[in-house]
Amino acid sequence: MVEKALNYAKQHEEQFLEDLRYLVRQPSIAAQDKGVKETAEMVKKMMEDVGVQADIVPVEGGQPVVYGHLDAGRSRTLLFYDHYDVQPPEPLDEWSHPPFGGEVHDGSLYARGVSDNKGNIVARLKAIEAFIKTAGTVPVNIKFVIEGEEEIGSVNFHKFVEAERARLASDAVIWESGSRDVSGRPTITFGNKGICYIQLDCRGANQDLHSSRAAIVENPAWRLVQALATMKDLETDRCLVGGFYDDVLPPTAREIEMMEKNPVDEKETLAQLGLRGFLLELTGIELSKKLLYQPTCTICGLWSGYTGQGTKTVMPKEAHAKIDHRLVPNQTALDIFEKVKRHLAKHGFADIQIQLLSHEDPGQSSLDAPIVPVILETARTTYGVEPVVNPRSAGSGPMYLFNRLLGIATISGVGVGYYKSGAHAPDEHIRLEDYHKGIEHVIRIMAEFGKA
Ligand SMILES: [Zn+2]
Repeated sequence: MVEKALNYAKQHEEQFLEDLRYLVRQPSIAAQDKGVKETAEMVKKMMEDVGVQADIVPVEGGQPVVYGHLDAGRSRTLLFYDHYDVQPPEPLDEWSHPPFGGEVHDGSLYARGVSDNKGNIVARLKAIEAFIKTAGTVPVNIKFVIEGEEEIGSVNFHKFVEAERARLASDAVIWESGSRDVSGRPTITFGNKGICYIQLDCRGANQDLHSSRAAIVENPAWRLVQALATMKDLETDRCLVGGFYDDVLPPTAREIEMMEKNPVDEKETLAQLGLRGFLLELTGIELSKKLLYQPTCTICGLWSGYTGQGTKTVMPKEAHAKIDHRLVPNQTALDIFEKVKRHLAKHGFADIQIQLLSHEDPGQSSLDAPIVPVILETARTTYGVEPVVNPRSAGSGPMYLFNRLLGIATISGVGVGYYKSGAHAPDEHIRLEDYHKGIEHVIRIMAEFGKA
């Protein structure tokens, strides 16, 4: 069954490329609400064309989810999570080829969203088509959840997952994207960090004042930086918010072993960043543990008063900071938000307003899930190299809705991108070779996972 499907994919490379070009030429910019609903309709139609039953499910306050399923009467079900929205293409003058042109140059396809994440949507659908056309069925039951606001933080997506728990039951989830590194190795991960993004607003007088008044009026900028200073110890890089580390789970022996086998490329990373060393002079396994298993407390933005050219002797009426905490299992974003609020009140800063701007919990899948060896073995066969494997990534996303809320093993790293694909950046592109390899990989995963 698998050989026939692989052959079909090989013979239809040109058509498969055209199918992807069709989708990437349609803008679907969630941040600007441009073309999003039209794209949902296109994705639904593309699913139906390969034999997947599809519904457009409205999500309260957000963009619809395209839900697909193909029940082949198999014992196992594989769910694909993707998103059909893309980042805005700006700045337009930095693109060498039009962002929604879908042009091919030197063996690469250029388009906003081609690596993140439309290339993967189409690759997965084409793998299904290859089975349906050659065997009339698929080796594993399939579900698709393709959301339309991942690029703006999946703000309402949790409502869909919470409401549709029963429909989403499956044996494994394949996450949206993946890319090959400099040496051609795909990078596979099994979880990600969460995020609690807050804004602090500190207010003083009802207007900016002549700075001579600083002698008798409190300065909100000073007040804000003092409040911020209570939140972090720089010597140890520890967050000082009470109870912040209570729920942090350390890595297991197996996870440590995995990180030891796939260390951070320290020299390369430092060279890229123009730095001489990492925080706290960390190296080796301690660096990996800090990166993947420790939560953070980061000032992302800080503004107040006059910041233009020259001098302006003014005392600002207000000061603001944006802070993000990257969270690890088993912390939760809402709990951390409450802890930060309590911390500020306890230190005498109850007057500083605090808002929660966005939040996602962390999630981790078991490394013992049956899908894990399937992904790794099929990656070796497809790419002819040993994949890079890490227990989780340091980024965030709605993965916790699947591996934490629904308890389904969720694997990231199956995809059509490579290290220069430039997701979110001008000239986003994928190599055609990676697109076709990505389809092959999905065909093999479906066949192997269905064998049980
Ligand atoms: Zn993205």
